[in-house]
Amino acid sequence: QSDEANQILEAYQWLSKLYHHLLYHSKDGKDGLKYLKERGFTDQTIEKFQLGFSPHAKEFIAEFLEKKGYHRQTMVKAGLLAVNDRDEYYDRFQGRIIFPIRNHIGKCIGFGGRTITHQEPKYLNSAESSLFQKGKLFYNFDLARSSIRKEGVAVLFEGYADVIAAYQADVSNGIATLGTSLTDTQARLLRRYVDTVLLCYDGDDAGLEATYKASQLLMKYGCNVKIAALPYGLDPDDFIKDYGADKFKNDVIEAGKTYMAFMIDYFKKDFKLHQEGDRIQYIERVMDEIAKLEKPIEREYYMNELVNEYNISMEVLTEELKSRMRTNN
Ligand code: ATP
Ligand code: MN
Ligand code: MN
Ligand code: MN
Repeated sequence: QSDEANQILEAYQWLSKLYHHLLYHSKDGKDGLKYLKERGFTDQTIEKFQLGFSPHAKEFIAEFLEKKGYHRQTMVKAGLLAVNDRDEYYDRFQGRIIFPIRNHIGKCIGFGGRTITHQEPKYLNSAESSLFQKGKLFYNFDLARSSIRKEGVAVLFEGYADVIAAYQADVSNGIATLGTSLTDTQARLLRRYVDTVLLCYDGDDAGLEATYKASQLLMKYGCNVKIAALPYGLDPDDFIKDYGADKFKNDVIEAGKTYMAFMIDYFKKDFKLHQEGDRIQYIERVMDEIAKLEKPIEREYYMNELVNEYNISMEVLTEELKSRMRTNN
């Protein structure tokens, strides 16, 4: 690694420390702290995740970094500062809660910043750089790694707040993508660590859509996918706040369904099952998915469910399966 790359990495560590300090020890930080406490995050959690705050002070960060010996231009290039046409080197995160984003060895390499005043966008992230590549890492992978290994399962969330709330609820194998959909690189990375990924996305249309897409990708790389569904309108963090940690662990995480069990339900939304034509299409749709399953025992298990539920013979379904498996291979 070049000297400059090392310098930039070092600057990120300083800035992360500073933001955290300012959450507790600045006038503006008080609003941030109040916000986090109202969301139910404890001091211990805030410490663990090194949450911070960027005060409303335009060149404060620039001056801090300069005092530490870093040049403003370098910091702009590294995404730590922005510059305007009046030559002011300012912090894009001003007035926001800071979520430091750490790489797999726990070094801060970027930030997510959340507004506490309904500003748009709700979240800002550090710009992509050679150091910070959103599609190549997971939020919290460093802290979650040992539990992920131990349990053989990674729980994948959509948001930083979900990871943190889950951690506080004693679910320590949680990670999240960084505001983008799961990438091939991330799926491959995850496969190296686990057999099973439990998807726990937001309970809304976007979350369900993303769950389907992420499942396909994870299965492509050989992961066993499970899905923890939330009531419509709630995300994991909301759920924990409304129903508590125990209910989250027992009724959401532990109750995670297999991919197929989930999809058999999920596909129903696209069909009017009281109409014969739709019912047939629905069964065909489910058969498409069953044909993708690796294990014969799983295929038979779910076909059996269709047999029982829709009064179709196993012979017909077996024919359907054969023709699909011919085209798949
Ligand atoms: P909160 O609970 O703080 O409102 P959330 O995690 O529930 O946040 P979502 O709207 O569900 O927020 O978005 C999930 C994730 O997507 C966020 O954690 C963030 O990483 C990312 N994200 C959300 N909004 C934006 C945005 N406008 N720009 C970039 N990333 C975003
Ligand atoms: Mn969402
Ligand atoms: Mn959410
Ligand atoms: Mn949320």
